[in-house]
Amino acid sequence: MPDPVGTPLAARDRGLVWHPYAPLDGPEPYAVEAASGVRLRLVAADGETFEAVDAMASWWCAVHGYRHPVLDAAAHEQVDRFSHVMFGGLTHEPAVNLAERLTAIAPGPMAHVFFADSGSVSVEVALKLSLQYQAARGRPARQRFLTVRGGYHGDTFAAMSVCDPVDGMHSAFPGALARQVFAPRPPAARLVVGADGEERWELDRSAVELWAVEVRGLAAAHTDELAAVVVEPVLQGAGGMHVYHPDCLRVLREVADDHGLLLVIDEIATGFGRTGRLFASEWADVSPDVICVGKALTGGYLTLAAVLTTRRVGEAITRSAFRALLHGPTFMANPLACAVATASLGLVEEHWKDDVPRVGRLLAQHLAPAQGLVHVADVRTLGAVGVVQLDSPVDVQAVTRAALRRGVWVRPFRDLVYTMPPYVCTDDEVRVVAEAVVAAVAEVHG
Ligand code: PMP
Repeated sequence: MPDPVGTPLAARDRGLVWHPYAPLDGPEPYAVEAASGVRLRLVAADGETFEAVDAMASWWCAVHGYRHPVLDAAAHEQVDRFSHVMFGGLTHEPAVNLAERLTAIAPGPMAHVFFADSGSVSVEVALKLSLQYQAARGRPARQRFLTVRGGYHGDTFAAMSVCDPVDGMHSAFPGALARQVFAPRPPAARLVVGADGEERWELDRSAVELWAVEVRGLAAAHTDELAAVVVEPVLQGAGGMHVYHPDCLRVLREVADDHGLLLVIDEIATGFGRTGRLFASEWADVSPDVICVGKALTGGYLTLAAVLTTRRVGEAITRSAFRALLHGPTFMANPLACAVATASLGLVEEHWKDDVPRVGRLLAQHLAPAQGLVHVADVRTLGAVGVVQLDSPVDVQAVTRAALRRGVWVRPFRDLVYTMPPYVCTDDEVRVVAEAVVAAVAEVHG
């Protein structure tokens, strides 16, 4: 509805529209006036305007930036054909093209694709699929999931149940969430990239071994109840931007094999090059049974996620009593989203190998001075992700505004100011992002 008296958008929004994890009377959001290239034009509630590099890539999604000509063209072309059709009993080229492309690039021999409409829903589908797989193999009692603490897999109910039980939303919905089996968080590790590009992991080997013993013990104790292992590979995102060693993923693969569990890898945040591998599972050379992808799948243009699985799992489902995977959202395989996703994958494949290490190297270089700040507990990078961890919770409003004044949009959470900028950022833009993060932390937290 047009507003005749010119009330600022943020004021019209406030109390009317819910924002992620924010109270209705929370701080007013910034209004987006335009988004182009790697920049957002934002208007604050007090009228101040900002041109800012989007250091968040809209929460991992906009890896090619905004208004990318190739993605815009793909969207326009598909709009001119058709924007949406139901997927029950129908198919279309955008879906088949994308499924072929995804199975071709995915780690491991993925043979089947289920298109879901968001990351959380894809996790639901992956968990359902695991239960159906176990039931099909005559093990219907296997209804629980083994996961690690510190994880984040989405906001729907089954997805929430495998999120960290303390920092997730378990306390808000006691009794409503399935009770899963939680192993400790995999011990922290650090990837050091030398000037020559050589990669070296720093880790506490004995901590990994102790962790592995605990995981194996838990799996053995719960074998008959467990359907699958569910985990984010190498980088836990919303659960704390925690980097762990690929060996831990190998341990989880072994545990899954030893106990007849599926290994479900949540690549929703890590997929499409972000961690320095096309998929983070590749750090461990692990072949998952099920992979969830989302976020950057469409280059951030439209909501779309996918669940990929192997021929073995597909065959088991087909031989089961139900024969089908029991899910079918209205907007399944939305043609617009699929068309843009295929175009986005083309760009990813063309550019990520150059851009991700370049962005990562610059982030590591220009975030390093944060190490010297009194309240900074850790600075780490992995691929094109940079993290500054404080020793106490971030003053989100103040750090956001301080970064905006330096031309950068960040959205800190808990004790973390972090960035995963679009891959297309120039060297200068990456430097601006990192310097703004360091300066904003210094200004607000000293
Ligand atoms: N898994 C991971 C690892 C994620 O980072 C997210 C989103 N932050 C999700 C699942 C849920 O995806 P969505 O928000 O699209 O439902």
